[in-house]
Amino acid sequence: MTKGILYVVSGPSGVGKSSIIKEAMKRLKGFTFSISYTTRKPRPGEVNGKDYFFVDEKTFDEMVKNNEFLEYAEVHGHKYGTSKSFIKEKINEGFSIVLDIDVQGALNVVKQMRKETVLIFIAPPSYSELKKRLLNRGTEKMEDLKRRLEDAKWELSKINEFDYLIVNEDLNESINQLISIFIAEQIKTERVTEHLGNYSFFKFEEE
Ligand code: 5GP
Repeated sequence: MTKGILYVVSGPSGVGKSSIIKEAMKRLKGFTFSISYTTRKPRPGEVNGKDYFFVDEKTFDEMVKNNEFLEYAEVHGHKYGTSKSFIKEKINEGFSIVLDIDVQGALNVVKQMRKETVLIFIAPPSYSELKKRLLNRGTEKMEDLKRRLEDAKWELSKINEFDYLIVNEDLNESINQLISIFIAEQIKTERVTEHLGNYSFFKFEEE
């Protein structure tokens, strides 16, 4: 069976990643979103088991010890991790999975699963625009917001390690670009022939 594709979408906090991913997935069939574990407290409206699995530090550390994460990272002062068994099982079953993770996490995933992974970076049109968006979102305290902006400088310096770059100027355009990447990757010759078997393309019927 052909393995699924692991789409890793990354970029600085506040750039609009989650909205772009959510909308793109609504318009496509057959894509599964990986729900991460985090020690961050839920924001108003966030649901356990839907947005994240919200766990305490002790549970998270236990999971690290038991080697349950494909990758985990401390991001802006909180811990976040991706379930290893979920990803490996789904990919082996041929499903396409979408991850919304930070840049360190993305680069760690690719070290382990380069062949199955497509790395997508979502960048703001400018640093000042990112600042504006984070301020407008208003979900972080000033201290946390400053930290996210500081971390963004390092994250933006890693753009060249990604396969695709979406500059999120216009939300709709970015959604279309993400959908295009998802689809284009699925119809790469190498994947299609792997799925159908090379032979079928060389079996010519006699007229
Ligand atoms: P937020 O707290 O705003 O939901 O997420 C903060 C950052 O953590 C975002 O950049 C998000 O993509 C990232 N993140 C979410 N889940 C994971 C994960 O499982 N692993 C890593 N490395 N980063 C994650």
